[in-house]
Amino acid sequence: MEYIFSLELIYLVASVTYILGLKMLGHPETARKGNLIAAFGMTLAILGTIFLHQGTVDPLIYSLIGAAIVIGTLIGWGVAKKVDMTKMPELVSLFNGMGGASAAIIGLIEFSHYVGDQLSIATIIAGLVIGSISFSGSMIAWAKLNGTLNKPIRLPSYNILNNIILLAIVSFGIFITCSNSGSQAYLYLIFFGALAYGVLFVMPIGGADMPVVISLLNSFTGLAAAFAGFLYGNMVMLTGGILVGSAGTILTFAMCDAMNRPLASVIFGAFGEGAADLESSQKSQGGSIKKTTPSDAAILMNYANRVIIVPGYGLAVAQAQHVIHELEILLEKKGVEVKYAIHPVAGRMPGHMNVLLAETNVDYDKLVEMEDINSEFQNTDAVLVVGANDVVNPAAHNDPASPIYGMPILDVENAKSIIINKRSMNPGYAGIENELFFNQKTSMLFGDAKDVLTKLVHELKNM
Ligand code: NDP
Repeated sequence: MEYIFSLELIYLVASVTYILGLKMLGHPETARKGNLIAAFGMTLAILGTIFLHQGTVDPLIYSLIGAAIVIGTLIGWGVAKKVDMTKMPELVSLFNGMGGASAAIIGLIEFSHYVGDQLSIATIIAGLVIGSISFSGSMIAWAKLNGTLNKPIRLPSYNILNNIILLAIVSFGIFITCSNSGSQAYLYLIFFGALAYGVLFVMPIGGADMPVVISLLNSFTGLAAAFAGFLYGNMVMLTGGILVGSAGTILTFAMCDAMNRPLASVIFGAFGEGAADLESSQKSQGGSIKKTTPSDAAILMNYANRVIIVPGYGLAVAQAQHVIHELEILLEKKGVEVKYAIHPVAGRMPGHMNVLLAETNVDYDKLVEMEDINSEFQNTDAVLVVGANDVVNPAAHNDPASPIYGMPILDVENAKSIIINKRSMNPGYAGIENELFFNQKTSMLFGDAKDVLTKLVHELKNM
């Protein structure tokens, strides 16, 4: 009794730490601490479950659990310690996939123990299907983010095919639950079906639509864990799963909003369809570009009243967050008002730019969201775009054939002058050309972001 009480108490404390941690993750200033608090709660819950477990447990099981924890911790710690900031989104996808796989494995193992108990079998099948989709989908997302799969792959009529498979999986799941057969063959059939659906679901997604899929897979993993928690009557697992699932769902809606995509078309098809016209939107703009030098760009910014910096994925690649902060401080000292325009899908993971700039202690009030800053571009003397491309591409407004058509962008073309830093004329993640580079007001400042920004800082210091 005493043990049960202690375990319940531990679960309560752990659940509170998750909620607190999640709340603190909502602001860059408290995010790190929030993560640690939730991790502490999770550790407490794991230790409590192992050591305050009711009934006798075979010592061999303890050794296996211990070995799994040690191996998992070593791999997780090592990989997370070593990973470059630019590879972080891939790692997050990989970890998310592991969560889905764990939930699916629970389903595979527990199925035979609950034959005849329809509610539990329904819970197991739901967790297995969602976990498997999350696992295989996350693996494809991982390959897409690291560039291994850099083109969307589409089977003929893939939307119809995917919807038929999904319908078949759901119907078969209902059949397995109602039939009470306990057939392992059925179980593995639905497992492989769900794995295949995960692959087919994410494979065709291309262009700039990945952020929605990534957050959706995140919410799937939470949901699968919640089903496992429900199966075991384990409150902390249920709470954790529900929190991840609902946070992921909120993020999915935020990403849908950011990409201007209805959620129904994400799940039931027509999603990523625009990218079918990729080639027609890739046609060369045919115009000429104007190049500039760090010295001329520095003069322009030095005499500006207002400068907006638009950070993008290239800033993360170049690890130029510290030098961009230095540039901002320098300009402010010279009386120039500087702000950062943050697009919700800039970079390769939700919140990527906020995380990157938080690392250098940029004043959070200077990070302005897209909806708030878009009206300010017209009163801005100079915009400095650093390693951003898709999030400033006017094709989102002007080209119905473009895979990013309809996506809200940062309206930098309304500014008086535009400086774009990137290394070449290569496209961004969506693989499309950007007419902004050919705009009369645009000057291209070619080079690695860190080198170019360092030169800009040097020039400004000498003015
Ligand atoms: P983009 O991928 O559109 O563009 C990045 C640009 O950075 C490239 O054009 C590249 O040009 C340039 N670049 C790369 N390395 C450097 C460097 N060292 N120095 C200077 N420039 C560099 O990035 P955005 O941030 O504009 O847009 C994000 C894209 O990623 C969107 O399409 C979004 O949908 C997608 N995405 C976002 C996710 C998210 O959750 N945020 C997840 C998955 C995808 P060059 O090679 O010429 O230097």
